[in-house]
Parts: sequence; C-alpha cells; structure tokens
Amino acid sequence: MTDQIDFLKAALRKKQSELARGIRSHSAELSVGEGEHDVLDQMQNMIRRDESVAFLDVLTRTLADVDASLLAMNEGSYGMCADCGEPIATKRLLAIPWASHCIRCQEAIDHGNHGYAAVPRWDEAA
Ligand SMILES: [Zn+2]
Repeated sequence: MTDQIDFLKAALRKKQSELARGIRSHSAELSVGEGEHDVLDQMQNMIRRDESVAFLDVLTRTLADVDASLLAMNEGSYGMCADCGEPIATKRLLAIPWASHCIRCQEAIDHGNHGYAAVPRWDEAA
C-alpha cells in the first residue's frame, strides 16, 4: 500500500484540478443565457441548465471526496472505510482513489438498505 500512496496522491491531485476546472466551466455556463426571449431558446436553455446543475452536483460531490482523501493521506487514515473502519481493497483504491467506503459498505449504500442517512440534495430538500 505504501508504495502506491505516491501514485494515488498524484492521481488525486490530477483529479482535483480536473474537477475544479469542470466546476468552473459549468458554473460559467449556468450564468450565461440570460436575456433570451425566444421561447424555444429559453426551453433549450432550461434543459441545458438542468443537465449542468446535475453534472455540477456530481462534480462537487466527487471533489469533496477527493479533498477528504488527500486530507486523510496527510493524517495517515487514508484507505479506511468511513463506515466499518476496515481497510479498503487496494484494487478498489487504484480504480477509484477517492473511494471513501469499502466495496461492501458502498454496495449497501447503493442498495439503500444501510440506515445511512444521505444528506438531502438541495433540490429534494424543498
Ligand atoms: Zn466498510
């Protein structure tokens, strides 16, 4: 594991800047298109906007995971499942360096039978 930490750290740093760039460009996209009066244009804009918001949401969440992983590396707690505390398989970390859960806990979360209270999304909280 220790011989792979540098590789994983580099992968996380790369992902971090990619995500930051993606977030910046999608945020910029959301702020253009004001002042269009054609109904069709407006509708197309709304659809694009919805897609951008959904995509932005994914980027923001992933960036939070990437940041948390880099922090955990500094603290020496990287690679531990946030739930059960067991080490996350190296193979999984090499595939997804920002994984915060072991495969078992992640599957439980994905299937929603975990008692894991997901933070409500801003658009579901209303
Ligand atoms: Zn776990």
